[in-house]
Amino acid sequence: MNKQQHTFCRICEPMCPMLAEVNDSGEIVGLKPNHDYPSGGLACHKGLSYLQFHNDPDRLNYPLRRRNSREETEGDFERIDWETAYSEISTKLTSLVDQYGPSSVAVYSGNPMAFNSRMLMSAAQFIGLLGTDMVFSSSTQDMTNKIVSAVAIYGSTSAMIPDISNTDYLLCMGANPRVSKWTTVSTENTSGKVTEDIKSRGGKVCFVNPRKTESSTSKTGETLLIKPATDAYFLAAVLCEIEALGGFDEEMLARYGSNVDLFKAFIKKYPAQRVAGVTGISIDEIKTVAADITSAKSATVHISTGVNMSRQGVICHWLAEMLNFATGNLGRKGGSYKPAGAIDVYSKQDLNGQIVKTALGDFNFTNPTGYMAMPGALLADFIESGEIKALVCLSGNPLLSVGGETKMRNAFKKLDVMVSVDVVRNNTSELCDYVLPGTDFLERADTNLLSNGFQTTPKIIYSDAVVAPKAERQDEWKILARLEQEMGLSLTNESTDDLAAIRGILAYSGTSIEALREQPHQTLYLPEKSRDDLFEKCLQHDDKRINCYPPEFESAGLFERCESIFEELQNEPEDTLKLISRRTPYMHNTWLANSNKFRSGTLQVNPLNMCPQDAAEKGFLDGDEVRVYNQYGSVITRLSITDDLRPGTVSLSHGYGAGRPSMRIAERNPGVNCNELMPTGPGSYEPLSNMSWLCGVPVDLELAS
Ligand code: SF4
Repeated sequence: MNKQQHTFCRICEPMCPMLAEVNDSGEIVGLKPNHDYPSGGLACHKGLSYLQFHNDPDRLNYPLRRRNSREETEGDFERIDWETAYSEISTKLTSLVDQYGPSSVAVYSGNPMAFNSRMLMSAAQFIGLLGTDMVFSSSTQDMTNKIVSAVAIYGSTSAMIPDISNTDYLLCMGANPRVSKWTTVSTENTSGKVTEDIKSRGGKVCFVNPRKTESSTSKTGETLLIKPATDAYFLAAVLCEIEALGGFDEEMLARYGSNVDLFKAFIKKYPAQRVAGVTGISIDEIKTVAADITSAKSATVHISTGVNMSRQGVICHWLAEMLNFATGNLGRKGGSYKPAGAIDVYSKQDLNGQIVKTALGDFNFTNPTGYMAMPGALLADFIESGEIKALVCLSGNPLLSVGGETKMRNAFKKLDVMVSVDVVRNNTSELCDYVLPGTDFLERADTNLLSNGFQTTPKIIYSDAVVAPKAERQDEWKILARLEQEMGLSLTNESTDDLAAIRGILAYSGTSIEALREQPHQTLYLPEKSRDDLFEKCLQHDDKRINCYPPEFESAGLFERCESIFEELQNEPEDTLKLISRRTPYMHNTWLANSNKFRSGTLQVNPLNMCPQDAAEKGFLDGDEVRVYNQYGSVITRLSITDDLRPGTVSLSHGYGAGRPSMRIAERNPGVNCNELMPTGPGSYEPLSNMSWLCGVPVDLELAS
């Protein structure tokens, strides 16, 4: 008889509870939402389709070694045994470390690693033992601005989350929660209903995006169609207007703020009348937002990936946090706050990290949370400089995920050794010398470490592996542990307890795997935390204050850069087209490219989306084949005319371009890689956060014929 097992999805932040059905032969035959869960157990079609991914015939099952030259685009691989793989890889990496030093071996971690607790921890250990400074991650493509900004403002890693369940006013910028599920906020309500609830209880939601997204409806709230990558100026102007309305909580600012005068002087440089033209948001609209926030019983601002990638993510996050704080909404019910977490620890942090000396200059590298990384936009340049000789990719696909595919591909050919640990032979793996097969989330035990500290309903959920890893797939943490041993980096024997790392995490909150297995739905809800001591716990600067004008931003040149970008935008030609990335419900970065469900019908490729007005001006018709190009690269795709975009903005979904014989479904309809058009190289990324510039990039367009 089939049996059911509790598990949870590990694709994005909600980490939705699910029930897996396993037959007598030990095969998973069903995956469904757990509707008995207290939240109702919502799960989206991406998670529920994961079985297709689990059963994908193109999944890696054995360690592979390349037989042909890496000059050739398609790899010719042969199966080898694990011991040979460990021995050969470790010999090659050790030889490079001996000859050129540990930083000649770079490590790139992809987004799936964040949803694999044991891999996350073992990768940090591997990097530490290896001693390399060349640490790269997908995090510089989506959120490192929030890490450095929080450290500079609070002196700790206390990034706050919006209290979306209780707020009376939500300013939601660069986010599409109905599709992307609240990035860096984990909520059980994944359907977007949470924004409908705000309106139902008499509150208001204001979306700010260059595109009216699926999240913005008559049941939620309207969208202010902002010009791409101008959010910093909009936020500064809203703050400026709020102050003029007397909406600042001066008592709060005096009690907890430092450098308040410098902050106020900054926002005064960007009044509504100055920024309206650059942002495309009228003076009246800016004043309305300011008035709404000022009059709301509680209000909060949430910025997400669209803003993070806009080349001023640090400034935007700082201004959003300042808005929450200066209006008295920090720590207020319905404002922003720091929820309970499994690891409820507040440690003092600063941005005075080690100085990493490289051929491309000195980098102040600090890694308070483990999610910081060197600029992904410089990975190819570091390789070209000869500084990086080997690359180990952990659940990552930098060829598609980082800007400049052609440049990256050429750089990769110059590496002495390239290793990939992944579940499929993705575009990057295809160029590797060794490809090692990892597990999917149904094949490994885990807990929801990633969502620690940003869940609206704090809880710990545990899942055993639903089935054992198929064929010779290995838990990623074991692969790294064995490599450490082979390289002589770790003398300890591999732990005999596979779950030791998870036990360690759970011990922080006084629970255990055994206790969680006994809990309904294998879930332990954490008691709601009092917000009374938020300031006491989160403010870790020596003066125990919120730094309203962090000196680190000044020394990194961010304020000056903010003004020079403003002047650049003021002077750019009226008809400049800006490219933004568009996430659809049928893709997730490069993860789901080899799924029939997500590569059928109109989803087969990623068209360039353009509004009717721009298309008419250029004489383009829906379905035309167009070449999109700029100084960084070009792609050819179909034009799709849509009325949800602001004029002057075009959009293209990322995560496409995976045309490899090793991924047969993706190969049939690969689509194009929008990152081919993204800036790379020195000066292309945001100082301090190392964030790539992936939103609001100027492009030109012509008919492909
Ligand atoms: S919302 Fe995210 S975590 Fe939940 S089922 Fe969908 S993909 Fe999985």
